[in-house]
Amino acid sequence: MRIGIVGTGYVGLVSGACLADYGHEVVCIDTDQDKIAKIGRGIMPIFEPGLDTLVASNVAAGRLSFATDIRPALTDVSAVFIAVGTPSRRGDGHADLSYVYAAAREIAAEMSGPGVIITKSTVPVGTGDEIERIVAEVAPGKSIAVASNPEFLREGAAIEDFKRPDRIVIGCEDELAEAILTEIYRPLSLNQSAPVLVTRRRDAELIKYAANAFLAVKIAYINEIADLCEAVGGDVQQVAKGIGFDQRIGSKFLNAGPGYGGSCFPKDTLALLKTADDYQAHLRIVEAAVKANDLRKRAMARKVIGALGEARGRTVALLGLTFKPNTDDMRDAPSLAIVAALQDAGVNVRAYDPEGMDQARAMLPGVAFCTSAYEAADGADALVLVTEWDEFRALDLDRMTQLLARPLMVDLRNIYKPEEARRAGLYLVGLGKPNSG
Ligand code: NAD
Repeated sequence: MRIGIVGTGYVGLVSGACLADYGHEVVCIDTDQDKIAKIGRGIMPIFEPGLDTLVASNVAAGRLSFATDIRPALTDVSAVFIAVGTPSRRGDGHADLSYVYAAAREIAAEMSGPGVIITKSTVPVGTGDEIERIVAEVAPGKSIAVASNPEFLREGAAIEDFKRPDRIVIGCEDELAEAILTEIYRPLSLNQSAPVLVTRRRDAELIKYAANAFLAVKIAYINEIADLCEAVGGDVQQVAKGIGFDQRIGSKFLNAGPGYGGSCFPKDTLALLKTADDYQAHLRIVEAAVKANDLRKRAMARKVIGALGEARGRTVALLGLTFKPNTDDMRDAPSLAIVAALQDAGVNVRAYDPEGMDQARAMLPGVAFCTSAYEAADGADALVLVTEWDEFRALDLDRMTQLLARPLMVDLRNIYKPEEARRAGLYLVGLGKPNSG
């Protein structure tokens, strides 16, 4: 099948490459000429493991192509995914749907039909209805259906997630859309028996937000349990393990940390709350999770300052800046708030991240960027582990102790055990557990 994807970012590029890998003929479109030019030269605009080879092999096979203009790329395409951004709208926190509606307008004008426009972007309930209205206005008489197919991939494991999803959700209101989407996803449902849920469009739109909000609540919950563990002398890792064995709860997303961040949870929880408020169906549990998570990030900086004793003039080395490992995405990363709070208190910040520093540089003024964890630690008063990149999991702690001006490590991901820190002569402050003596 010939498929168009409008928006070639984390979701659009990964989806396009994976669908092409399944044998579809895919054209990915983006208005960002620089991005498309880079991809044309084999340079990926994002860091995502395995993406460069997947793109290269499908381009070489003639199944994957790129364009900056919808015309004429989409003329005879029967399915077009919208995968543009839906950031928080400045001022009120609702999802900014201007990119989605602009894309829908252009696609409807160009597609000849019959076909389907599918939102893969995360959009609030009812967005499909508005796209339907736009299509009727821009392309009256064309047979173009509107469907929702939310994406659940995680950055850092995006290809694996796309190819082996826990489920595929198809939200549609007519047979044409269902038939086309079933055909698109047939390779996935055949090979790995990924469950396909075909439902109404509004349900599909809600599923994505309800899922993200649930995960955000789970993270905020274990983080509050971590605070309680600290107050009463418990160990959150043991508590999480103990509750995670319960299959009704599950062990995933029970790692205490510096708060959730990234391009999805913060904006999606906010947008869901705004929708709920509009309909006077308040989501107080999600509200509490958002508030707890917001407070947590600066609380992490206070934890570091507490460990330092004296903040002004001290130097701290941050390891990891991205919101999670294996991505270069800095959007809403907890490190942004942590750095700001440390700088507010007069702390000098040095940092190293394996992939995120290009994006971070513009977002973190005043930070000294280093080329390795050891360079960052050299002469610093504390080492703070913010993101659990693999290369931070087996640091040479003896060397760190030698390099640091004071042998202090604040581990916001609970990677290191008190015994190993003690053996290396490091004083370790963890999250939700006793410090090493
Ligand atoms: P992104 O910012 O990486 O990519 C969006 C792209 O769309 C940009 O390259 C932009 O130039 C392009 N664009 C904007 N308007 C356009 C237009 N009219 N025509 C062509 N291109 C246009 O965004 P992303 O992270 O890929 O997210 C896209 C959507 O998917 C969002 O709604 C997001 O919430 C959702 N989502 C993201 C993830 C994730 O992990 N990043 C996971 C699931 C869902």
